Amino acid sequence: MSKNSSNNILLEKQVEPLFKATMSGGLANIFCAGLVLLFLNNSPQESNAIILSISIILLSVIRIFIAKHYLKYGTLKLENYIHLHVFFTFLIGVVWGVFAYMQLYFDDESLRSLVILINFGLIAASIATLSTWMFAYLAYMIPQSIAIFYVFVNIDSEYHLQMAGAFCIFTGIMIDTSIRFNRRLITELQLIADLNNEIEIREKVQDELVQSKQGLEIKINERTKELVDANAHLEKVIDKKEEAEKSLQYLAYHDELTGLPNKNLLVDRIDQSIRTSSRESQKMAILFLDLDRFKNINDSLGHNIGDILIQEVSSRLHGILRSVDTVSRNGGDEFVVVLERLKNSNEAVYVAKKIIDCLTDSFDIHSHKIHIGASIGISIYPTDGAAPLILLRNADTAMYRAKQAGGNQLQFYDKSMSNQLRDRLELESELHTALENNEFYMVYQPQINCSTGETTGFESLIRWNNSQYGEINPERFVPLLEETGLIYSVGEWVVTEVIEFVRQHHDSDVTYAINLSVLQFNNYQFIEFVKNEIEKSGINPSQIEFEITESLLINDFDKTKNFLNELHSLGCAIALDDFGTGYTSMNYLARLPIDVIKIDKSLVRNINTNKNLKSIVTAIVTMSKSLGMRNIFEGIETKEELSVVQALKGNIIQGYIFSKPLLAKDVDLWLTTTQDVGQA
Ligand code: C2E
Ligand code: MG
Ligand code: MG
Repeated sequence: MSKNSSNNILLEKQVEPLFKATMSGGLANIFCAGLVLLFLNNSPQESNAIILSISIILLSVIRIFIAKHYLKYGTLKLENYIHLHVFFTFLIGVVWGVFAYMQLYFDDESLRSLVILINFGLIAASIATLSTWMFAYLAYMIPQSIAIFYVFVNIDSEYHLQMAGAFCIFTGIMIDTSIRFNRRLITELQLIADLNNEIEIREKVQDELVQSKQGLEIKINERTKELVDANAHLEKVIDKKEEAEKSLQYLAYHDELTGLPNKNLLVDRIDQSIRTSSRESQKMAILFLDLDRFKNINDSLGHNIGDILIQEVSSRLHGILRSVDTVSRNGGDEFVVVLERLKNSNEAVYVAKKIIDCLTDSFDIHSHKIHIGASIGISIYPTDGAAPLILLRNADTAMYRAKQAGGNQLQFYDKSMSNQLRDRLELESELHTALENNEFYMVYQPQINCSTGETTGFESLIRWNNSQYGEINPERFVPLLEETGLIYSVGEWVVTEVIEFVRQHHDSDVTYAINLSVLQFNNYQFIEFVKNEIEKSGINPSQIEFEITESLLINDFDKTKNFLNELHSLGCAIALDDFGTGYTSMNYLARLPIDVIKIDKSLVRNINTNKNLKSIVTAIVTMSKSLGMRNIFEGIETKEELSVVQALKGNIIQGYIFSKPLLAKDVDLWLTTTQDVGQA
């Protein structure tokens, strides 16, 4: 609180009793004035006394009005109320002074005494009502005191002189009393004001405390809520983190596509199995499984179908294995099965065969009938290794052998395989530089008309002569070309090489066959490439024949048909190679642009020992003729085989009986030499 405002309050408190006592003070004055009027008794100064009494009554009423106005309304400034009050008090004091003065002239002794008494009484009594404001008291008592003193001094008597002295003492006592009264009041008021001030400050502090307590409570509540929220959020984050950790942990140990254990978990399981098997002196088998032809399916039908196929393979495997066996996916089309507690290796053979059988049944995926097979390599603990990674590597090596042997079969690991694997890896690295080192060359195997003995065409066959390994068989390196993806560039090199060879020979009646790998199939850029090469060389496109294998036809018939039609529309012929070794439905043949059927050597080789085979081959020849296709018998080596083909009325023969594949430089010589079938 400011000092000014506190002073103002003190002033208010000080004058408040002054104004409150005005009523009683006023009534006392009115009463006294009335008393004088009653005692006038027809004195000569009656009229003056009446005027004075009425004046006192009126002034007292005005003063009461001022006090009431302040207390009720207080619309004027406090100072103005005080000045007015003091002024009217002074006027009342003056009128009473005039009364006192006039008593000199009052004949009536009793009236004189009454007025003196009234003066003394009012001076004394007004201490109580006026001394709270000293000016008011002094303004009231000084005019009266002067008048009384004057009267006492002017009356010539010893008694009145003594009275004047006594009055002086009385006045002094009254002033002293009023001053003390006033001071005490001011001190008390100050005290009260200080106390009020203190109380006010305390109340304010109390209020502030309450407010800050409330604010604090609100803040605590808010903070608590924030903490609760933050806690809930934290719990959620922790939950999510745990979930993420769980799924990360799951992913770290499982294959996402199939939900099977992955290689990490597999290694753990093998490790555990090794311990159990060693404790219980039992055998354990690792079956390393790789799907046959999966790559073709993925390339030709798309990854979606490839993925579904993998999932179906996974569920078929689950279906036939015991719950104690572990099946895991290593990635791609590789699966590993761990068989525990085996008494002998035959149990592993039994399971591997069961797996091969269950995967040989066709898969129906999105209206595609898909045929795959499985190549399985088996390694046995403790014979083939005592550590998970060694057992896995050895089973993988055995699997590779199963694949090399034609797939869809099982193979046990033996130590010599590891050396072969190493060779294979070295061969693979040599293959990468073979094209730029000009290590490939083409040979041409003649195809002879059965009835005329004329050479109708050649099959071009690739050869690889490596500085380190010498001549390498295509059956060994063509699969490697496919695995490494080099088949695309090497395939184009073959096309360029053969077309260039044809261009140089100008013999328009002879056809030249080019073998196509499964991977080149469905690659429309390849068709574009062939088209450009043919146009560039200016050769007759009908001299080029493309050989495709039967297995191609079984995956996506429509896609195959489109591809073949495109190739065929270039003017090139299409031959179906190795016929009789796959699953081709005769129904398909009629709907595809196939010009030649090449009957596989395995059919002719066994024809004399297998009667059914003879009728099958007879049917193939008849069918091919009725479909307007030429037939070529491959791999005819002996006269017996030749006479069988002649009896079957085959069209064309390709075999060692006439010629092995010829070097390019020998083709001309071959063509100029007449070959006589009868003499062969
Ligand atoms: P293929 O297309 O069935 O080729 C016929 C294979 O039979 C050739 O083996 C040929 O030399 C062999 N052959 C021919 N007559 C006889 C015979 O009377 N007796 C025996 N035992 N074999 C005979 P080659 O040249 O070793 O080729 C093997 C396979 O390699 C081919 O089988 C073909 O699938 C693949 N191949 C060869 N050259 C190429 C090529 O340029 N590109 C592609 N993609 N594959 C090729
Ligand atoms: Mg061929
Ligand atoms: Mg063939």
